[in-house]
Amino acid sequence: MARYKDEQCRICRREGQKLFLKGSRCYSDKCSVTRRNYAPGDHGQKNKKLSEYGTQLREKQKTKAFYGVGEKQFRKYFEMAENKKGITGEQLLQILESRIDNVVYRAGFGASRAQARQLVNHGHFEVNGKKVDIASYLVKPGDVIAVRENKKDNKTIKENVEANHLKPVPDWIEKDDEKLQAKIVRLATREEVDIPVEEHLIVELYSK
Ligand code: SF4
Repeated sequence: MARYKDEQCRICRREGQKLFLKGSRCYSDKCSVTRRNYAPGDHGQKNKKLSEYGTQLREKQKTKAFYGVGEKQFRKYFEMAENKKGITGEQLLQILESRIDNVVYRAGFGASRAQARQLVNHGHFEVNGKKVDIASYLVKPGDVIAVRENKKDNKTIKENVEANHLKPVPDWIEKDDEKLQAKIVRLATREEVDIPVEEHLIVELYSK
């Protein structure tokens, strides 16, 4: 049997919606959800009714997939969110949005969060002049995330900047394509998080 190569697309198909995990392919006719909008596997085309627990679990898995975060890290973010003032689900999303790989993606320097994560891990970015190569680094208001001087000729970043030049950037990020940098004006509000997630289901799941 042929090996299924598109692991990320399988995640989207399992969730029944586009999670935009693969950059430009997600916006093309090649998108697997566009072509085969049913879950992968032999029983994927059967309509399954999810239990309450199943619905909550899927919401959590979907959110983890969106941001490319593992269970342990996600749980840690949830605990951080619980300890913050405000609505836990909204705080959780704000923390996830503050990851530097997400900022690099949102600013258009990465074609997808996965690619942005790789660029960060490979030491292409700095925060306030200091190299940061940890994708889970959480940015703060006032931080300036920039492509490091010796990486400014990186072909991938250049192509992304060109392709995303007109792509809208959320108001909490101020990007400068000339300087290859993005300033964090403030943290993201719930309204600015455009992913289709019902975060209260995640809170309910972890509160059991
Ligand atoms: Fe694959 Fe992107 Fe389509 Fe998801 S949205 S199925 S990652 S092409």
